[in-house]
Amino acid sequence: MEMNRVPPKRRSWAEPWKVKVVEPLKTTTRDHRRKCMAEAGYNTFLLRSEDVYIDLLTDSGTSAMSDRQWAGMMLGDEAYAGSRNYYHLQEAVQTYYGYRYLVPTHQGRGAEHLLSRILIKPGDSVPGNMYFTTTRLHQELAGGRFVDCITPAAHDPADPSPFKGDFDLDALERLIGEVGAARIPYICVGATVNMAGGQPISMANMRAVRELATRHGIRVFLDATRAVENAYFIQQREPGHVDRSVASILREFCDLSDGCTMSGKKDAMVNIGGWLAMNDAELYQEAANLVVVYEGLHTYGGMAGRDMEAMAQGIVESVDDDHVRARVGQVEYLGQKLIDWGIPIVRPIGGHAVYLDAKAFYPHLPQDEFPAQRLAAELYLDSGVRAMERGIVSAGRDPATGDHHYPRLELVRLTIPRRVYTQAHMDVTAESVAAVHERRHEAKGLAMVFEPKYLRFFQARFESKD
Ligand SMILES: *Cc1c(COP(=O)(O)O)cnc(C)c1O
Repeated sequence: MEMNRVPPKRRSWAEPWKVKVVEPLKTTTRDHRRKCMAEAGYNTFLLRSEDVYIDLLTDSGTSAMSDRQWAGMMLGDEAYAGSRNYYHLQEAVQTYYGYRYLVPTHQGRGAEHLLSRILIKPGDSVPGNMYFTTTRLHQELAGGRFVDCITPAAHDPADPSPFKGDFDLDALERLIGEVGAARIPYICVGATVNMAGGQPISMANMRAVRELATRHGIRVFLDATRAVENAYFIQQREPGHVDRSVASILREFCDLSDGCTMSGKKDAMVNIGGWLAMNDAELYQEAANLVVVYEGLHTYGGMAGRDMEAMAQGIVESVDDDHVRARVGQVEYLGQKLIDWGIPIVRPIGGHAVYLDAKAFYPHLPQDEFPAQRLAAELYLDSGVRAMERGIVSAGRDPATGDHHYPRLELVRLTIPRRVYTQAHMDVTAESVAAVHERRHEAKGLAMVFEPKYLRFFQARFESKD
């Protein structure tokens, strides 16, 4: 008898690349992982990468470069001044992001440092759509105060709104009314918003921010770290953009800003590098001068020529529609699996990561016993999958009062590097999350026993309360 098999539902995408080089992974035993986790003080940043099986700590500098990017590494012009790779990078930035002037930096925070130093005066307020760790710290070190003006929906992990990165325009207007436009050096726009769960900001909201800023004579600076992924979400979710390329959306979006800081380690798929860009000639002069003090000459700014070449090529590849669709598609694949199994994650699924809702996992743990820190540790203990805390530890302390910031979002980030892992790795990860979810009632809190002054989440140490 003939079997009448129904073909499986067709997938909408497959990876638009094939594998040319592989890096072997090591599996470890639970006993070994228990030892490693205790030695690391329950902080996944303090594990050795050797002891990790699937590394979802971050998508920063961890992507796989293409054959063309590797070929570009051999074309490095390591001249101290005027390297040809700098001009290639400048051309890529001008073409795809549209800014006139480029100042290369060693990575994103180098650009944040320069911008903050140049524009922020003590006592200034810098509004943004939710904080980012390094961005806010540089604003504070320059004497400024970060003011969160993101839409309230962003603080609710279950809210399904498509653009949870949008600004609350009323909050922005209120702030300008309170402190005056003269005390706001720029509006800092994150796209996508990392700490909200990789959530995008819409073109319409960005345009409204631009109009409001122009009306008050305030600059708009973009954190363009994942602006390509943001452009993809605009294409997919915002009416009127579905037939456009990601590249053309990115250009229109950036054109609404005066410049940007950029970590090339994310969208641009390089292991190191970043830049500051702007349209204003005077501001460029200042930045090109200051970069010499902190990073390097204005035509390399902390990068080798080969790194600039790899980034120029990475930018071209990053805006390819097939690439972004597959990249975000893989994140959605993992997230959808967890949703189907009833596991609490931030919705909608973000662009670069799936964020587990640790408050919903461990409602019995108070926030100052670090539920997300515990959840990241449990995941590692279960399978060797490494994730990152994005909750109270990352939020740090209020510089004025010295108290913890208590963010409403207490999350664990499963961050997917670009072009690195397969769907099978996503399946293994999902099953491990499910196993940790099964045992959620047994989880104990943590106590912080070492706390560094700056960006404590990188190096803080904890002990288990059991
Ligand atoms: C990573 C990141 C930065 C900082 O970039 P680095 O290259 O790590 O210094 C800034 N903003 C956002 C949103 C980021 O994700």
